[in-house]
Amino acid sequence: MKPKVIDGGEELDVAAPRCFCGKIARLQTSWTEANPLRRFHVCPNSSGRRKKGCGFFVWVDVEFPPREKALVSWLLRRLKELEKDVGRRQSIERKLMGWLILSWGLAMLLFFWQFL
Ligand SMILES: [Zn+2]
Repeated sequence: MKPKVIDGGEELDVAAPRCFCGKIARLQTSWTEANPLRRFHVCPNSSGRRKKGCGFFVWVDVEFPPREKALVSWLLRRLKELEKDVGRRQSIERKLMGWLILSWGLAMLLFFWQFL
């Protein structure tokens, strides 16, 4: 029987091994600087760094050569910077929109004031 892959939104072509609990290992992708975009299998009972489950862990992909690793790390860093920048600009945009509405309200108030 071909083992079923629990994907979590990932590719489905990797056959998942069973962890020490006897469960089908979960496929995840590493986003760390040391191993960017490298997939691995872990115990499905693990979550984050604190809960390790049975401790089962195996890499799926081979490590990137140093140059490629540096390039991917740089691209990921750059992406984070740009996302942060977009967030900053959106917050400025919201504030400006608030001021625009407020100033329009004030202008309207002053305009109708003269008819009182
Ligand atoms: Zn396990």
